[in-house]
Amino acid sequence: MDKNYWNHQIETLPRKELEDIQLQLFRERAKYCYENSSVYRKKFKEATITPEDIKTQSDIQKVPFTVKEDFRDNYPLGLLCVGADDVVEIHSSSGTTGNPVVGAYTKNDMDVWRELMARSLYTTGVRSDDVVHISYGYGLFTGGLGFHYGAQGVGATVVPASAGMTQRQVKLMKDLGATVLCCTPSFAVYLAETMRSEKVNPRSDLKLKRGLFGAEPWSERIRERIELELGIEAFDVYGLTELCGPGVSIECGAHNGLHIWEDHFLAETIDPKTGETLQPGEKGELVFTSLTKTGLPVLRYRTRDISMLETEKCSCGRTHARMLKVAGRSDDMLKIKGVNVFPSQIEYAIMGFPELACQYLIVLDRPGALDTFTVKVELAENAAKDPQIDLSNLERRILERIHNITGLCPDLELVKPGAIPRTEGKAKRVLDLRQGKT
Ligand SMILES: [Zn+2]
Repeated sequence: MDKNYWNHQIETLPRKELEDIQLQLFRERAKYCYENSSVYRKKFKEATITPEDIKTQSDIQKVPFTVKEDFRDNYPLGLLCVGADDVVEIHSSSGTTGNPVVGAYTKNDMDVWRELMARSLYTTGVRSDDVVHISYGYGLFTGGLGFHYGAQGVGATVVPASAGMTQRQVKLMKDLGATVLCCTPSFAVYLAETMRSEKVNPRSDLKLKRGLFGAEPWSERIRERIELELGIEAFDVYGLTELCGPGVSIECGAHNGLHIWEDHFLAETIDPKTGETLQPGEKGELVFTSLTKTGLPVLRYRTRDISMLETEKCSCGRTHARMLKVAGRSDDMLKIKGVNVFPSQIEYAIMGFPELACQYLIVLDRPGALDTFTVKVELAENAAKDPQIDLSNLERRILERIHNITGLCPDLELVKPGAIPRTEGKAKRVLDLRQGKT
């Protein structure tokens, strides 16, 4: 067996074979959903098709989309395709706006999830002699337990630190010899800051080699900062509660997109406005079908994440399609003075400056007829202490870069280190005070 792969045969399957398997599984899953869920049956009837009408790859486009509202309208478990008896575990999104999305797993779904998380971790280089420190939140959130199952699947030592208590986490990583860190990218930045203030040098005091970061969009610049500050190789992870949580796709050592595990998920990209299917290489909204789930499968689920698919074989030898790093959710896209902007674009613009720390906040308001757009960003410790620093020159260069990337010119506020509140889970990067103001 080739030591580079968790499952050599599946991960390197020729694309034609992979696509044939996907079509077969899609047809089976469509029939399964139609027979076991009144919600799906209704969708098929409204589209005047039956699962038998899906014969070729292009017929898949006839199947109606599943959307987040389907989960909310049928809260908590109206989309379930099995009896309640067959559910062995439940997870849920945070549901900050309205009903949360509930994910229900059968024993079979749990086996698949564990296998895909193990495959994902293995793809980034995690092996049985690793110590995996997991700082994703444990509990209803899929992050903590998803990585936990995967690391155990690989046979590594798991430290289930969960989120919070940052100083203790640094101590645990040092004392227990963590080699792999799993958390949100913003928490990795916070950990690096805490190490600095605790006088812990990650390169000499820790054994960290790699980090697996996800659950929020992050730019290449943040990757560079995390890799530099923690002395590790950073990998992007993608997943969502509607599909299983993490384990949908992962970066390999080539770092040129995230391999989607296509023996379990069918990925498409669509034009978010028209719903029309796009070709690989065209940027659009990601749509996923869970091909093997039994508890709560989804057919053509619209993720609202914007990405692009690449089906050329990767230099790592894997044939599974890659999705480009997600720039942001279409939900998160900000409309500022009529211009569409992702917070990650602002992040990309400001993170290239060594004079700045990784903490920023975008503040939008509408005090009168027009939007105001302010970017607050913290100075790095060194820059804040440097009496020679030319702040007005720095501001001018930052504004120039933001303008080049977004076409907008915000008000810029350089603030002291530590002035922007930290979060121990997902970062809050946007404060939009415009709601309700017209
Ligand atoms: Zn690869």
